[in-house]
Amino acid sequence: MTRRRWLADEVSGNRAALTGAHAEHLAQVLRARVGQEFDVATAAGVFRGRVVKVADQRVEFELGEPLRTAAAHGITLALAIFKFDRMEWAIEKCTELGVSAIVPLIASRSEKHLVAAAGKRRERWQRIARQASEQSRRDTLPEIMPPMKLKEAAALPGEMRLVLAEAEAEVMLAEALGDRPPASIVLAVGPEGGWTGKELQCLRSSGWIAASLGETILRAETAAIAGIAIVCAGRRHDPNHHEGLEGIRRKASESPLRDV
Ligand code: SAH
Repeated sequence: MTRRRWLADEVSGNRAALTGAHAEHLAQVLRARVGQEFDVATAAGVFRGRVVKVADQRVEFELGEPLRTAAAHGITLALAIFKFDRMEWAIEKCTELGVSAIVPLIASRSEKHLVAAAGKRRERWQRIARQASEQSRRDTLPEIMPPMKLKEAAALPGEMRLVLAEAEAEVMLAEALGDRPPASIVLAVGPEGGWTGKELQCLRSSGWIAASLGETILRAETAAIAGIAIVCAGRRHDPNHHEGLEGIRRKASESPLRDV
């Protein structure tokens, strides 16, 4: 069984700490003891961490040997604001799949009362993402950005920016990605009522590509999870993902074992 992984709240030198409710969970629910070992993820990577101090609101680790870190995916999900229970599900699942940032997007057809409440939900979404990251043994925590209007989101940086569109898309998502998808990708998913024509036009004129997931109309959370799974497929734990098959073949042909 793999060791449990914790995402550090604080790091200083070779020390890391969990604080607040996060620490409480480890200290009280899981009854952490000094000397126990866990994997501790920090911005610098994942380390073997030995518990050196346990208090109710604080657990400290001494960081030891660095462990392998997965390659960064650089996948941003721009997720239109829709019913919170379903949205939370999408946040949890897309975190498990490896998304690196989530932008809650204020779309024309996002319900107004949900948009009004979204700012305050951010903390809860971040907590869901943290739990999902630890559960899935991720090395990093996806950042939940503040809610953004579509016009601002249209300017999000990414080597490839894709908008999932249920009606107007001519290209399938997998086709749009091609054999060698770039390292940084932004994927936008619309609200329950879909995108307006104006929104799609705005994204297209900013260089976004509209892509389809097939003929059936999926619920927004299904579209988000399916879309992110397709984008992440083949990239997980693959340090060669940006080199594609050619890079892997070249590496194999350069290997000294070849002539033995
Ligand atoms: N209201 C629309 C459906 C919206 S589905 C209707 O009933 O006709 C919500 C979002 O999920 C869409 O805006 C799109 O981003 C995504 N989506 C759903 N099905 C899709 C598909 N087949 N291809 C691409 N995107 C899809």
